[in-house]
Amino acid sequence: MPDIRWPQIQRMLPELYERGIRILILEGGEPLLWKDGTRGINDVIVKAKKYFFCIGVTTNGTLPLDIESDIIWVSIDGLQEMHDRLRGKSFERIISNIEGSKHPKIFANITINRLNYNEIGDLVKHLEPLVKGITIQFFYPYSESDELLLSWKDRAAVLEKLKGLKKEGYPVSDSILVLDALKSNNWSCEPWLIANIEPDGTYNHGCYLKNRASDNSSCKLCGFAAHAEISLAYQLRWGAIAAGREILGIF
Ligand code: SF4
Repeated sequence: MPDIRWPQIQRMLPELYERGIRILILEGGEPLLWKDGTRGINDVIVKAKKYFFCIGVTTNGTLPLDIESDIIWVSIDGLQEMHDRLRGKSFERIISNIEGSKHPKIFANITINRLNYNEIGDLVKHLEPLVKGITIQFFYPYSESDELLLSWKDRAAVLEKLKGLKKEGYPVSDSILVLDALKSNNWSCEPWLIANIEPDGTYNHGCYLKNRASDNSSCKLCGFAAHAEISLAYQLRWGAIAAGREILGIF
């Protein structure tokens, strides 16, 4: 599918604002590779800043992180051997790009799965001096592969580990509230709080994960910590509001 083009982006940004969108996250594929003629991702960000409170970019971190977004999330899914196994040989380059960036708000985002959950504690400690914060999500079982799905028992154990690290002062940015809620997914989702744009420019309001799991039980298996945080903040749960303030720098 071809990428969305610059004229379409220029039309869509104010439309998104009109629809009520206030936080924009550029992700999917690799946003730093986006180009249309002389336009690159920073052109999109500069334009988007006219409309949104906060612009985030989620990247694989393999390109220099000279991005003008308010926040950069770099996907890191393990220490060197594990990360390179899961995402291709890139760990050293990512760390070097983080170290070489002057951006004040780089977060690591870890997708936790059955292979890497045992080293999450060590990974958090390794990343601590390098990033502003660390957010997590759990592997989501798309139909093509669910062998990475973590058991509930192991999910609860890793969430307890993360809570302990956060209490010790490590920069785990997800709230204790959400780390607890994800253990059994007892949080109440507000799917209408998100929307996404497909590469062809199609607008979808609501959760883009729902019903994509192999057995249509996506909400039961959901590990979308960021959306748990947003939903609980909307429900005026203080822990989630505080985490949102710290991560996004708004409210
Ligand atoms: S998959 Fe998760 S974020 Fe999406 S609607 Fe279900 S509970 Fe909400």
